Amino acid sequence: MSKGKKLIIGNWKMNPASLEKALRLAKEISKYSKYSRGKTEIVICPPFVFLSAISKKIKKAKLGAQDVHFETNNTAQTGEISPLMLKNLGVKYVIVGHSERRMLGETNEIVRKKIGACLKHAITPIVCVGESKRDESGNYLSFVRTQLEEIFSSIPKTALPKILIAYEPIWAIGKSAMREATPAESNEMAIFIKKVLSDLYDPKAVGSLRILYGGSVNIKNAGEFMKDGGVDGLLVGRDSLDPDNFKEIIKSVN
Ligand code: PEP
Repeated sequence: MSKGKKLIIGNWKMNPASLEKALRLAKEISKYSKYSRGKTEIVICPPFVFLSAISKKIKKAKLGAQDVHFETNNTAQTGEISPLMLKNLGVKYVIVGHSERRMLGETNEIVRKKIGACLKHAITPIVCVGESKRDESGNYLSFVRTQLEEIFSSIPKTALPKILIAYEPIWAIGKSAMREATPAESNEMAIFIKKVLSDLYDPKAVGSLRILYGGSVNIKNAGEFMKDGGVDGLLVGRDSLDPDNFKEIIKSVN
């Protein structure tokens, strides 16, 4: 991960349906990296099956994966992908703990192990946290605090600069989103995440911590999140599948 650069990360989820479409999309997005004027790292996270072909075609954007197994050795894990396999393909980032994977049983403990596996192979983990609903009494803050405390319980302080944390409120993600978060809500959570981690480690350790916002980011709100959301970058789902929209997001962030 390049120090000091902003980040725009596209999570393609289970899209598109063919390699041909995936390559077209990847090439277009890689071309648009020029709008970042060297100040923003553009990352695309396609499905596993497209990573190999895309890695040979993109020069300017970085490659990310949507998941990884926590076993670092080649053991018997039917259907799984190891961090070493990803590293050998040129993958630099991996999303871990996405709410859509947590729904399938990914726990904070598994997320913690996946972070360790990524770091062992010099891959930057993008660690997703976020609550499913907001409430007046602030229970959503305790929920995120527990996520962070359980995930970071045995991660050494020296690893923090090599990790990205993505605040992804579940209620703001995907087609069924209730609404997008506001930059003020993102900012509040970014401060809160830093506070929790500075309690776990020390205030100095969180100085280099990098936080992203994800959830219904689009061409209208991307610039506002970067300006007032207290974050260093954005994790974009739906709008990363539309090259024109993704281009406008890159432009607005810069
Ligand atoms: C996501 O699921 O990571 C995400 C940010 O999705 P969307 O932008 O479509 O809300």
